[in-house]
Amino acid sequence: MRLKRKDILTIEELSREEIEMILSTAESLREVSEREIKKVPTLRGRTVINLFYEASTRTRTSFEIAAKRMSADAVNISVSTSSVVKGETIKDTAKNLEAMRPDCIVVRHAAAGVPMMLAANLACSVINAGDGAHEHPSQALLDMLTVRGRLGALEGIKVAIIGDIAHSRVARSNIYGFTRMGANVVVAGPPTMMPPGIEALGCVVAPDVDTAIKGADVVMMLRIQLERQKDAFFPAAREYSRFYGLDEARVRLAKKGVVILHPGPINRGVEISSEVADGPYSLILDQVTNGVAVRMALFYLLLGAVREDAA
Ligand code: ASP
Repeated sequence: MRLKRKDILTIEELSREEIEMILSTAESLREVSEREIKKVPTLRGRTVINLFYEASTRTRTSFEIAAKRMSADAVNISVSTSSVVKGETIKDTAKNLEAMRPDCIVVRHAAAGVPMMLAANLACSVINAGDGAHEHPSQALLDMLTVRGRLGALEGIKVAIIGDIAHSRVARSNIYGFTRMGANVVVAGPPTMMPPGIEALGCVVAPDVDTAIKGADVVMMLRIQLERQKDAFFPAAREYSRFYGLDEARVRLAKKGVVILHPGPINRGVEISSEVADGPYSLILDQVTNGVAVRMALFYLLLGAVREDAA
């Protein structure tokens, strides 16, 4: 089994069948991480390069662990110690890395479109690990895997995504992903953080957070992306948490057995209270566990066998 594509760049371009294939492959690979010897030989001899131009804890570690659990060799490039600081362009860096014959480059960059530019210029596979405020496909896949694991299905469920929608690549990828899988997505947040025309992605904009959360099967809280904000979009953290934060009272508006997600890193006491983040409905750490399985699945489906379109 293999995806009929070289790269994973956006959720927007993935079909429902492709998302199904990735999720079911991840479900079958999840068990590898529960073994005492956490490794399968499937990708022995393959090389993955992690090229991160932006800060990351979860995503970078997760891609590295995923590659290693599949027996691929993983190399991490931290931009602060690379030739980028000497003025090399992204394309030149990538071309030089390609000359060392990796099978896949995983890239994160603050500018939207960088993974697409690299994919068009490189023969190896490219995975987008987050490009600016555009997309973060592996995050949406691990979120869908987490919800499917708990609720059994995605079709017909109500998913509320709350917070800084404008700056969130996580929101964008999840709106595409959940709607493609038949879920109803509602978004809410400060009007200053709600991009005009977001409905075109297939979601509904709720007038306030309580309306969005009412009857929801899933509540996904977003981090305020301070690094992407040039202006003051809200008066103070305390104000933000009162109007847009998730506390226990708001959780009670959702459906019984609601799934609470947050992509991390969380700002405790701002977009989510500690009681909720550490509470019984929170699957925040399951998301992290599932992230490894999803990334193992992506490597397997891109690099694991001869591509059908290449045969
Ligand atoms: N870790 C996620 C990202 O890189 C979410 C966040 O940073 O808030 O997009």
